[in-house]
Amino acid sequence: MRIILLGPPGAGKGTQAKSLALKLGAPHISTGDLLRKNVKEGTGLGIKAKDYMERGALVPDELVAQMLIVRFSQPDVKTGFILDGYPRNMSQAGVLEGILKQNNMSIDLVVSLDSSEPVIIQRLSGRLVCSKCGENFHAVNMPPLKQGLCDKCGSKLYQRADDKEETIRKRLAVYANETAPLLEYYQARNLLHHIPADGPAETVLNQIIVLARQKQ
Ligand code: AMP
Repeated sequence: MRIILLGPPGAGKGTQAKSLALKLGAPHISTGDLLRKNVKEGTGLGIKAKDYMERGALVPDELVAQMLIVRFSQPDVKTGFILDGYPRNMSQAGVLEGILKQNNMSIDLVVSLDSSEPVIIQRLSGRLVCSKCGENFHAVNMPPLKQGLCDKCGSKLYQRADDKEETIRKRLAVYANETAPLLEYYQARNLLHHIPADGPAETVLNQIIVLARQKQ
């Protein structure tokens, strides 16, 4: 199963993609996670990407494309994938088409997670991420058992630099201007399904799974 998750930051793409990957046995490919790994490791790509990410801007298309091509050359992608955070604009949708064509693949399903702005701001401004394993928590909705520490591995939790309210608003504007046009693009290809995503993660997940099963 090859699925793209679309939706504004904070709609729950990462959360849903992780659960779907487990349920469907396909890798979760998050360009945001891959970029953050590069930043953390101080790679050439990470050094170039860091400033864009902290400002809530998109990292240049060529940099992300190279990273994605490398990811798609790995064998686990043959079983399918849950793509989270890519494509982010029309040009990236073209790059993805090219990569898929080269690998004799096509997309089965595109899901737009539709969330409202107040819910997004509340979710992102309280989000806490583990500095080691990447597990997500929320200061109010899902606090860790020990303040500031990850339940899973005990490492320190931090707030992402781009989860400050001002940067969240910038990311929402980038989504509206650059990413939202993709909804029409995938609608025209009869691949797009909308799912309301303000509610509990489990309810959203069940709805995506119903759609995925219909496509299998
Ligand atoms: P995310 O984790 O998906 O919210 O992404 C965090 C940040 O990484 C974004 O605000 C961008 O700066 C960068 N990023 C992630 N995916 C892409 C992409 N496909 N194209 C450009 N920048 C991206």
